[in-house]
Amino acid sequence: DDLVGLNNLVANTAYLKAQHIDRSELRQQRLSLTLPRPKSSALRAAADNQYESLCEQQPIGRKLFQQFLQSSNPQYVVAAEFLEELSDWTFAEDQTKEKAKWTILTKFCQPESRRFLSYLTGENAKICKALSNKNFDGVMLDQIKVATREFLKGKPFSEYLNSPFYYKFLQWKEYEKQKISDQNFYEFRSLGKGGFGEVCAVQVKLTGQMYACKKLDKKRLKKKSGEKLALLEKQLLEKVNSHFIVNLAYAYASRTHLCLVMNLMNGGDLRFHIYEVGERGIRMERVIYYVAQITTGILQLHSMDIVYRDMKPENVLLDGRGQCRLSDLGLAVELPKGKMICQKAGTTGYMAPEILKQESYRMSVDWWSLGCSIYEMVAARLPFKDFREKVQNEEVTRRTLEDECKFEHKRFDPATKDIISLFLKRKVEHRLGCRGSDPRNHVFFKSINFHRLEAGLVDPPWVPKSNVVYTKDMDKFAETSEVQGIELNDNDEKFYMEFGTGAVAIQWQKEMIDSGVFDELNDLGLNGYDCVTVWK
Ligand code: ADP
Ligand code: MG
Ligand code: MG
Repeated sequence: DDLVGLNNLVANTAYLKAQHIDRSELRQQRLSLTLPRPKSSALRAAADNQYESLCEQQPIGRKLFQQFLQSSNPQYVVAAEFLEELSDWTFAEDQTKEKAKWTILTKFCQPESRRFLSYLTGENAKICKALSNKNFDGVMLDQIKVATREFLKGKPFSEYLNSPFYYKFLQWKEYEKQKISDQNFYEFRSLGKGGFGEVCAVQVKLTGQMYACKKLDKKRLKKKSGEKLALLEKQLLEKVNSHFIVNLAYAYASRTHLCLVMNLMNGGDLRFHIYEVGERGIRMERVIYYVAQITTGILQLHSMDIVYRDMKPENVLLDGRGQCRLSDLGLAVELPKGKMICQKAGTTGYMAPEILKQESYRMSVDWWSLGCSIYEMVAARLPFKDFREKVQNEEVTRRTLEDECKFEHKRFDPATKDIISLFLKRKVEHRLGCRGSDPRNHVFFKSINFHRLEAGLVDPPWVPKSNVVYTKDMDKFAETSEVQGIELNDNDEKFYMEFGTGAVAIQWQKEMIDSGVFDELNDLGLNGYDCVTVWK
């Protein structure tokens, strides 16, 4: 027993220490790093890409495009600065917002100013000149913003594609394609267990970046025919790029496992916080904040025609700052517009009536499960199942279809009761979130500025302690035995190749920037003087 305790302590210490790594030491190890030359096929493929992806969504692409703008025509600089200031104004509050407004008016809207937006023409130029302290609204600014982006998409963008900055970008893209294996990571303690293997903390050797790695046992996958599902989960994870859903950074195959490397959520899952930390249940201020982030995450999935189908506190994880994300897209499915599904999927106690009755459904089921989850965060039990109650699934189904939801816990206030009741409407057409009703407008969220929340600008009401590991001790995870009698063949290898696509662009580029590697390699100057000959 002492030995188990000691093992746990050692594992926790190593894991916590890795999170506070000295970055200058890593820098020393990276001194000899250089970027590869792009292959010519990469050049053509990348040039087919759109402005949005190249210059806005991909973090390194965005940086290099901005650097290009700063180094060229003064008009380009003005356009870039205007978009920056406009974004500040959009997200600012009170005095800062007033100040941003004043800056926009004096800098960019006065024809005699050096920074006047002189690339605007026709209607847009008129609007810009007409803006004033009294006449300053979001719709007009939006129109000028659209016009500014149209301007950048034209001549500036095509000049960028022929500049050394873009060559540099292609070098980074080439580097991004490197093969990924176990060798790229240090591995730390296990954080949880799933159906096909464990999730552990890992650290990228090159950058010191911490992630969580979900390791799916190849043999177990094959035995339970879980390969298709694993691939689906990977493809969905890499497609969604959201503050409120765990992002995928790498997907690769080791000799024994398929590995999904995702944001490290070291603040624990909400189930843990409801039942295992302090008094049961979660304080209202925190509930509202988490539910706001969850709602935004669900709306983002739905906007991509994805049903989550596994909304429950256990699948909502907190990061080190105390912000939450949805995880485990293992049950999620993409349903193209108009398509319905009637497959039974979800967790007992959270499943909507339409699933239990085996009717066809779309996005509605996630709002029902969210209603159950809010109830659970407040009352530390489910609406139709008490905590640790031993009860048959059939009985939970019966209660879900017939019983009234009771609010006996003292912490239910009127707004909370109301939003839960609206999410728990048995008829889909009456349920909040369905038929075009937007849950974000409910009074439950009156303290939340969703605009700022989405931009990650609202401070969490509670921050996890940096010296605590918010998960069960390692020996509490059940042992899993090795899978017997399964042989892997060439067909399996083909599938592993399809799964192991390596780095995922946006997250990987963010890692390069956050860790300082991007600046280090860019500081070497633009060694792209030979680029023109390379790619013409
Ligand atoms: P499964 O699909 O097999 O249920 P999950 O994706 O839910 O697997 O992961 C299993 C457990 O691992 C979770 O319940 C959670 O405790 C932990 N876990 C999963 N993803 C992360 C992450 N990104 N950061 C930290 N812990 C995680
Ligand atoms: Mg899970
Ligand atoms: Mg799963």
